[in-house]
Amino acid sequence: MNNFKLPSLPEVADIWQQTLHWTPTVQQQVQFQRLYEFILEGNRQLNLTRITDPQEFWEKHLWDSLRGITSLLRDGGVGGENTSPSSLTSPTPLSFIDIGTGAGFPGIPVAIAVADSTVTLLDSTRKKIAFLEKIGAELDLTNVKTLTGRAEEVGQHPQHRQSYDVALIRAVGTASVCAEYTLPLLKQGGLAIIYRGNWTEEETKALESAVHQLGGIIESIEKFTTPFSHSIRHCLYLRKVATTPSQFPRPVGVPSQKPL
Ligand code: SAH
Repeated sequence: MNNFKLPSLPEVADIWQQTLHWTPTVQQQVQFQRLYEFILEGNRQLNLTRITDPQEFWEKHLWDSLRGITSLLRDGGVGGENTSPSSLTSPTPLSFIDIGTGAGFPGIPVAIAVADSTVTLLDSTRKKIAFLEKIGAELDLTNVKTLTGRAEEVGQHPQHRQSYDVALIRAVGTASVCAEYTLPLLKQGGLAIIYRGNWTEEETKALESAVHQLGGIIESIEKFTTPFSHSIRHCLYLRKVATTPSQFPRPVGVPSQKPL
């Protein structure tokens, strides 16, 4: 790392508290700052993200990543009743997979915030995964695992199929593609969280049949506004209620070429 001073993330303990009812510890704040610095550095060689301004990075990468999982953790979503409503600690340690994690979003902020759970970061680009392995070691994230591969293939692999409590996916494809990538990887009762920008009722209706074919239901859809730029975001929460038929996910490329 060079000697010149890298920009600092905004000090926003009050915004974390007001919006997510959670405040990062000093250690977590340091991890967020170091993550930011590593990504700025990594951006010189790898095209990781166009978001480099500190405030924008905080909002679009850190806050947005954690906003998607708070209701799950607060309501005890997957693991039963949550006894500590004001913390991001899950009731029982959960296994997360972040599909198409890119520069590590939402998976790395989740791994930092929910240190008792494990987070598997999956991406088809080997270089990105190599970079994330370095970040995991530098930030001392012992709960992070990495995996290079295609969601279509990993979803058919016995070691990964039906193995996760929560599958996260942001900015990877259309909602039906995201459903086909996430649901096969979930245990029965598990939750897929699809991060979206805008979302409409019509899109919900159009997605229902795909989710049903994959053994899921659309459990809820949350709309929220980001704290700085006041942009609209949605998270779709899909619950796996039945076994996913073995033909899903279909071979590489098919989910996007022939959407369900
Ligand atoms: N989730 C991150 C990155 C989104 S970019 C974020 O929100 O910032 C999409 C990423 O998904 C890319 O890194 C790309 O390599 C990966 N990807 C696309 N299709 C994939 C597939 N079928 N399986 C695994 N990774 C995939």
